[in-house]
Order: sequence, then structure tokens, then C-alpha cells
Amino acid sequence: METSIALVGAGGFVGSHLLQALLQRTPWKILAVDLDFHRIQNLKNEKDSRVEFLRADIADAEVIQKVSRSEIVVNLAAICTPSRYMSEAQAVIESNFSHPVELAKACAQTGAWLVYFSTSEVYGKTSQGAEVLDEDASDFIQGSIRASRWSYAVAKQLSERYLAAIPHLKYSVVRPFNFIGPWMDFMPGVDGEGIPRVLANFSSALVRNDPMFLVNGGNARRSFTSIHDAVDFMFCLFENREKAYGEAFNVGNAKNELSIRELAVLMRRIYARMLSVPEEALSPLKEVSGEAYYGKGYEDSLRRIPSVEKSKKLLGFEAKIPLEDALEESICWFHTHYSAECKRS
Ligand code: UDP
Repeated sequence: METSIALVGAGGFVGSHLLQALLQRTPWKILAVDLDFHRIQNLKNEKDSRVEFLRADIADAEVIQKVSRSEIVVNLAAICTPSRYMSEAQAVIESNFSHPVELAKACAQTGAWLVYFSTSEVYGKTSQGAEVLDEDASDFIQGSIRASRWSYAVAKQLSERYLAAIPHLKYSVVRPFNFIGPWMDFMPGVDGEGIPRVLANFSSALVRNDPMFLVNGGNARRSFTSIHDAVDFMFCLFENREKAYGEAFNVGNAKNELSIRELAVLMRRIYARMLSVPEEALSPLKEVSGEAYYGKGYEDSLRRIPSVEKSKKLLGFEAKIPLEDALEESICWFHTHYSAECKRS
């Protein structure tokens, strides 16, 4: 029988890339679930009989039952933009704990393999001197309850623990390290409101010639990973499923680590080269405090470098795309996709 897979959150940034790759690389039957299909409208228009598009909420018990009847269930649905962790903490916890665990319980009943998207943020409030983060050995460090930034990290952490505690559940956990690429998040005021994650926010600023804001000096460091590497990881996972049961995997590129200030400078340089204009003519860099920018309760992880040994050893996966290539592709996409919008506004 042909493999069947459900993508919960198929219309999101990761889901849309994964859906496209599944259609290109497999003959599988796909159930694509989301509330918003704008990123995958072109795939929807193709009316490929292998895909069923379901506009539905994973909070709905009937949807959970239907999804869990697929052989593989990939759960990508989540509120995952830091600007919402403080102002919408309750919804963040429900979306990253309450709903995923209901789906996990249903998968335990049907025997579906649940691939659960968690986050590198489970490692929490890491310091500037943080070591490489190991899936099974590193501690998780979270701030106080008043620091509601950690609502997301703690909900993800608890859902991971819950999955591990459900008897007979076949599951694997993916911890993304700052995936970047076309279709990431949104441009504020155009197709979304609030503050998107840093790649989308800096790209939006560049396209509009607005300031690029460096939160707390832009000293925090991240390891950025191309969405195409992330998709390749998923296929290594699918091909090695027996080895992946019960395991959590960092998915990241330790070679692509830099500070947010360095990222801003690099993105400006790439965009200036693309437009053939001097860098100084583009968005100025401005410093802002975390609380002023995101609101009360904001704290940060200061350094996040993934250990990539486990996915190399168990799945034969290694991220390959250099930071500059991934940024060039993303910035070019943002420019092409949003330039017309910016001229209108
Ligand atoms: N950040 C920033 N300016 C922005 C957006 C984000 O300096 O316009 C910083 C943010 O404070 C954090 C890092 O960039 O230190 C990454 O933030 P993002 O929202 O992309 O996600 P995170 O990795 O924190 O989940």
C-alpha cells in the first residue's frame, strides 16, 4: 500500500516547502491541513489527486481523528513568533502543548508515526558562553514566570516530555535551529501584523528602506539553516524511521553561526550588491532594548549552536548550504515578492 502522510501546518513556512518536495520526490498520498493556504495556492490549483487539502484547525477532535489515520503524521502547526510569546502566552501554550498532545494520544491509538516539530528554543536562556547544544545531554534553562518569553519554550519542552511518556507512541522530535528561506513569516502591514522573526523583519526593513533594529545591541548569536537543508533532513528521517523512533534531532548548521549585528551587516551588504547601490544608502542599523521592542517579559537566548552529530550518525544527514547563499536566496525572494507592495504603500 502507498505511504500516506499528513502535514499539519502544510500552509506554513516549513510545511509549504515540505509539501512541494513530497510531491516532487515521492508518490505518497498527502493530507495537507491548515487554516491558511496562501503559500501553497499554486499547489492547490494544480489539483494533484495525491493531495487532499483540508482547511481545518487541529484543535478540532474530528480533525485529530482523521489526521491520525495517516501512516506518518508531521505536526508543524504552532504559534512560533517570539513577539507573540509575551502578549498571547495562553494561546502560545495551547498551540504548543495542549493541541499537540491530543494529536499524539490519537497517534498512539492508531499506530501512526508522529514527527513532532519542537524548537531549538527548548534549550532556553543560554548564555554568551554556551556550549554546543546536545539533544540528550544539554540542560534546558528557563527564566521566571514573569519572563513570559519562555511560554513557548516551556510548552514545547513539556510536549516533548509528554510524547516520551505516552506508552507505545511511535514518535520523533525535530528541533529547528533558525530555518530561513523564501516564504518565511510575513511583511508587517502587508500580509501579517506584529514583528516577524529576524530574517523576515530585516528583509522587510531592507525592501522598505526602514531601520533594521538590533535588539539589545544585536549581540545574541544564532545558527541559521537553509530551509532546503531542513527539507533534506526530513527525507533522511523518512528513510531511517526505525532508527529515529523515540529520538529528538537538532536540525541546524553550526557553521552558519553569527551575531544578529553581523547578520544585519551581511544582509545589507548582500542587498546593496543585488541593487548595485552603496550600502550606506540602505536601511540604517538602530539599537533598541528587548522590552521596548517586544514588550514586558522579553528575555533572550544569547547563543545557540547545534550539535549535529546525532543526525549525522543515525540518519546520515548534514546541512550543506552556506549562510551567504541562503541569505541571498531569501533576500532576493523578499525583494521580488514584496517590492510591488512597497511601491504601493
Ligand atoms: N532580533 C533583532 N531584531 C529584529 C528581530 C529579532 O535584533 O528585528 C533578534 C532577537 O532579539 C533575537 C534574534 O534576533 O536575539 C533572533 O530572533 P528571532 O525572532 O528571529 O527568533 P529566535 O531565534 O529568538 O526564536
